[in-house]
Amino acid sequence: MVATVVLGMLCVHLLCFSGMFVLISTRLRGKKMGTDVFALGSLLLGIAYVLQLLGGAAHWGVMSVINHTLTLCAPVAYGLGAARFFDRPVPVARPLLALAGGYTAAQWLVHAVLGSEARYALLAAACAVLFVAMAVVLLYGTRTFARHLRAEMAVFAILIGGLGAMNAAKLVMVLSGGLESLDMGTPFQTAFYIYMSFLGTVLPPAVVWLVLHRLTDDLHVMAAHDPLTGLLNRRGLMDALEAHFRSRPAATAHLLIVDVDHFKRINDTYGHKVGDLVLGGVAEVLRHTARQGDLVCRLGGEEFVVIAFDTDGTGAMQLAERVRDAIECSQVSDGHAHEAIRCTATLGVSERFASAEALDERLQQADAALYRGKMSGRNRVECAPALQAQGLPA
Ligand code: GH3
Ligand code: MG
Ligand code: MG
Repeated sequence: MVATVVLGMLCVHLLCFSGMFVLISTRLRGKKMGTDVFALGSLLLGIAYVLQLLGGAAHWGVMSVINHTLTLCAPVAYGLGAARFFDRPVPVARPLLALAGGYTAAQWLVHAVLGSEARYALLAAACAVLFVAMAVVLLYGTRTFARHLRAEMAVFAILIGGLGAMNAAKLVMVLSGGLESLDMGTPFQTAFYIYMSFLGTVLPPAVVWLVLHRLTDDLHVMAAHDPLTGLLNRRGLMDALEAHFRSRPAATAHLLIVDVDHFKRINDTYGHKVGDLVLGGVAEVLRHTARQGDLVCRLGGEEFVVIAFDTDGTGAMQLAERVRDAIECSQVSDGHAHEAIRCTATLGVSERFASAEALDERLQQADAALYRGKMSGRNRVECAPALQAQGLPA
């Protein structure tokens, strides 16, 4: 009686979660993160348990064969959904149809050759192997593809490993006690379905939480980066600077502002798309020329900022000169008949600063130096007056 009630509740949970995953996946148009496949997995398992409730005691019949096939296909669907969540573009329909066909044929064969008990033993054995394999993959994931979700993957591995152990116990019970051991009234079946119900209640919300985790991470990245070049945007720069100056001890910084010379001409001559390619090329040069740990940002238009940490005025001026030279030496091609397109840039270098609040003031300072560079003919580096006073070249 207890197992039947628990099984009924499990059916309701699974079918509701299936509907919820369908709704979530329709909202996530382009990048569904496996939620559509999780919906399928929950639906298959929900139907399998409805068939189990309707079918009654263990016996041979079409409903029971479909039930076993769905019971095995559902966790495979969850596994494929998980692969999609981790950006592996695995196929779903074909493997599931092949498994369903193959396992249905295997059931018929096992029943005909070895009898009814063997068919139930086969399901318990297949589920035990499958769940243990899934637990092992999840544990492997804590060190590789899901390192950032280590705690979550470890909890999933323990819960799913437990299900593997329960299926292994079920296999032993069927082999030693026959089909009577699968009666819904036995303590083992009660414990089995209470555990299944616990997983059916806990795992789908946990998956929803993982999807939300991913979505909010993606939103943070999008809010902090420029979509054209992938560099930090102004907001991302401010956040990164605040994080840097919160750490102790925090190295001081110099700010370099980089403005492409006569960029409007490039747009006018080659078109806006080629202009975008040139901006991508400049971003690439900045990424490679700045030191690891420095911050590189696209402020807007054809203006970029590099924050150089842990250096003095001389080092900042040397970096600015390296950047200027690298941009002058670089070229981009639009892939058509046009010759390789080159550009130059003018740079302004600020005084040292030691807080994120100083960013605006240092930007103005570097901008004023940049303006002097533009007035003096472009393709050059200028520094703030305080650096000039230290004897650095203007
Ligand atoms: P200067 O040497 O004085 O800096 O001249 P400039 O032509 O580089 O500067 P100006 O400010 O006159 O022109 C900047 C141009 O950058 C104008 C604008 O249309 C273009 N621009 C801004 N954002 C983008 C973008 O995202 N893509 C492309 N292709 N062009 C952009
Ligand atoms: Mg410009
Ligand atoms: Mg400009």
